[in-house]
Amino acid sequence: MRLRITEIYKSIQGESTYAGLPCIFVRTTGCNLRCVWCDSAYSFFGGKWMTLDEVMTEVEKLDCPLVEITGGEPLLQPGTSVLAERLQRAGKRVLVETSGERPIESLPDGVIRIMDLKCPDSGESERNRIENIAHLKKYDEIKFVLASRRDYEFARDKIREHNLGERVNSVLLSVVFGKLQPVNVVDWMLADDLPARFQLQMHKFIWDPLEKGV
Ligand code: SF4
Repeated sequence: MRLRITEIYKSIQGESTYAGLPCIFVRTTGCNLRCVWCDSAYSFFGGKWMTLDEVMTEVEKLDCPLVEITGGEPLLQPGTSVLAERLQRAGKRVLVETSGERPIESLPDGVIRIMDLKCPDSGESERNRIENIAHLKKYDEIKFVLASRRDYEFARDKIREHNLGERVNSVLLSVVFGKLQPVNVVDWMLADDLPARFQLQMHKFIWDPLEKGV
């Protein structure tokens, strides 16, 4: 079994409750969405085919207990679930970042899904697979990336409608870099008493926000 891979590298986890921890990133190639603010469009095309053994060898070389499979959209490739299971068997804690457009239940138990619910300004909110919410586990995380007050209200309403604060480990709110002031979102969250965790994309403050592979 093979996976189309854009890059494998070690950095720190930038957005989730694991933010700040050393983490190996396995970035798959290809995405079927086109969020207007996407910062990983370089992973849409190209990449190289790697066997699961080759991916495992690269991961072992980088030597870190936390591994995130990201994209692009990892769940477009059937090999992602198999890779996640192999990483678990190798003793890794495995995170999978997904747009939420593909079914998430194919991933093995214990794999932490960090699932987006796309907001209107992304241009892709019609693609949210709302059925995925029923498959989320207590250890999973949901992420809303906000570019406007309209996006915030969308997130707030979804959090309330689906009781997301009770359903998952963390509901994450972050802003599109340079589009929305963090202070505004924090003010709105506090005013609405929202059960969510505000976060900044840490890696964009540490390195050049336009640089890839960090
Ligand atoms: S789902 Fe992720 S990779 Fe795909 S276009 Fe949106 S932000 Fe980019």
